[in-house]
Amino acid sequence: MLRDSFGRVATDLRVSLTDKCNLRCTYCMPPEGLDWLPNAQLLTADEIVRLVTIGVERLGVTEVRYTGGEPLLRRELVDIVARTSALSPRPQVSLTTNGIGLARLARPLAEAGLDRVNVSLDTLDREVFKRLAHRDRFTDVIEGLAAAHDAGLRPVKINTVLMRDVNDHEAVPLLRFCLDRGYELRFIEQMPLDAQHGWSRENMVTADEILNLLSGSFDLSPDDLEERGSAPAERFLVDGGPARVGVIGSVTRPFCGACDRVRLTADGQVRNCLFATEESDLKTPMRAGATDEELAARWTAAVARKRAGHGIDDPSFLQPSRPMSAIGG
Ligand code: SAM
Repeated sequence: MLRDSFGRVATDLRVSLTDKCNLRCTYCMPPEGLDWLPNAQLLTADEIVRLVTIGVERLGVTEVRYTGGEPLLRRELVDIVARTSALSPRPQVSLTTNGIGLARLARPLAEAGLDRVNVSLDTLDREVFKRLAHRDRFTDVIEGLAAAHDAGLRPVKINTVLMRDVNDHEAVPLLRFCLDRGYELRFIEQMPLDAQHGWSRENMVTADEILNLLSGSFDLSPDDLEERGSAPAERFLVDGGPARVGVIGSVTRPFCGACDRVRLTADGQVRNCLFATEESDLKTPMRAGATDEELAARWTAAVARKRAGHGIDDPSFLQPSRPMSAIGG
């Protein structure tokens, strides 16, 4: 098992399939993009499946989430999902995506065994989308969402980052949009993970503010608090339910004590925390001929070193040198 020194067990594996993205969301990367990893440094599909298999079959991973960068840009995605869902014991297989290309891929992915999808959507206004993501792709995302729903990828979850004076006036319309279509909305507090280092605590829209914004229009009552377990979102029943909304207060309401995640970057580094400043290389030993047992031992040691918390509130906090797109959000 992937157990750390505080007794937490990592069962939820997030795998970044590429650091590239076709959007440039301001909270993530600069408009000109980043220096992408050279192709030779990216894990191949076979290498990804090998490491995921070690995670699932030897180390107790029960959920595999593919992310990025933008995972739909990875041409072998359907094959990778099919091979992941064929593992035994079968893990839950999910995807975090910006939705561009999902209109075409939702059905093949569902047929390959994808269980669930989280789609990022920060606005319902095409002009705001263009300003925020530096690309005119709003319609693609909306079509992707509908296709995911039609393909039976339930629940379709939507991730939204609110930014002050950019899209914080859209909290209520976004929730209405999701309620009308049967999508589950989760607001995520903006975290200090952008390549430009533009995050500031004062500018961040907090979980409390988000709940205040919503409470003016909806009756919110806490849901499943005792069942929250390691789930990052605090969930609320909307107008008595059954519809729900989630708020992920990564900064102001950290949930590190219940964290069950571990991450694998697109270039084969294990990260035991989104905010870790060190990584453990699995790619180099794998390419040098390491056995599954040796790779599992390195991975176990990497998780054992996980810190108690992300420490954003600590004066000594250092933003990780890799941005979110390279880590795998
Ligand atoms: N491209 C995919 C997508 O858009 O969902 C997957 C990768 S993206 C890095 C994963 C999630 O991280 C998205 O929901 C995005 O909104 C979120 N994200 C990126 N940078 C963030 C930040 N600085 N703070 C909070 N969430 C962030």
